[in-house]
Amino acid sequence: PASMQAAYLKPAVLRHHEVPGHFKEVFILSGYRPVSSVAQCVRSIFSWNNETLNVWSHLLGSLAFLSMAVGAVSEFGVSDPAVWPLYLFLLASVLYPLASALAHMFNVLSREARDVCFFIDYAAIAFYGHCATCAYSAYSLPGHMMAPASQLLLLAASTATAIWGVWTSCRTRFMPSRQVLRLSGFVLACLIANLPVLARLAAAAANSDEASLPHWRRQLWLVLAMAFLYLTHLPERLWPGAFDIVGHSHQLFHLAGCMGTADQIAALRFDLRDRRPLLTSPPPWLPMLVSAGLVAACACGIVLRYSLRVRRLAAAGGGGGCGKKRSD
Ligand SMILES: [Zn+2]
Repeated sequence: PASMQAAYLKPAVLRHHEVPGHFKEVFILSGYRPVSSVAQCVRSIFSWNNETLNVWSHLLGSLAFLSMAVGAVSEFGVSDPAVWPLYLFLLASVLYPLASALAHMFNVLSREARDVCFFIDYAAIAFYGHCATCAYSAYSLPGHMMAPASQLLLLAASTATAIWGVWTSCRTRFMPSRQVLRLSGFVLACLIANLPVLARLAAAAANSDEASLPHWRRQLWLVLAMAFLYLTHLPERLWPGAFDIVGHSHQLFHLAGCMGTADQIAALRFDLRDRRPLLTSPPPWLPMLVSAGLVAACACGIVLRYSLRVRRLAAAGGGGGCGKKRSD
């Protein structure tokens, strides 16, 4: 019948009061997808709902970073170990928005799937943060810190905070008041990752003409903007319901994240090109690979552990993560 065909072409979206608590977003009143099949989830990104732009912003971001990676490989080749840290970072830059886009696409498969989707999202972000630190320590430290000892110290601190970040972000999905603890995991990782850039900007003379510095400065502002959006839920906090489909804080958060990543890539490429005499040769690529492998393995282990816990809780009838409104 025509009505069924219409429903097929235009999937229904629900109001805030029609969805269970754990599917709700604070200050977002409409545009919720009902619990959906895999095919419905895929179709849903071609119609308007409150996740459509969250998916597309990161799908397109991932594609853009993939094309930047192809450009970098064709410019620098693969034989020179000096470029490998940049490639590690580019790989993570392609993966994290892809994981996030899939998480936003499939998070209405079920309550349990929703938790698992965001575990994977957090793990990919933590891996990306660590890979950023790897590339920073290879190319972008202040000149006097460009030595194996400080590089290793930074990598060790980043490994620990990345793993801590995944653990707290997964753990906190089971807690009633979780935003502060979850943020603490990311703030620590973010501080470690941005320390080299802060030190570099502080050490740079005001009239320094290094090509990467404007990108580093803008990237730091974007990190602050992301923290602001995440914590304040602006603009939808002021006008609940007005930004459900277009313009809510999480969409702006994604946009700022993609712009920040593009700035990081540009800055790293400039540093690789312009700071060759300063770089340690070869870069500490072995500790980088080992630490990135360790972060990836621990992240997978933590995701698996908490995914099993979600399943156990669901089987026991307790449901997945916390039942309160969430903020991913
Ligand atoms: Zn997101």
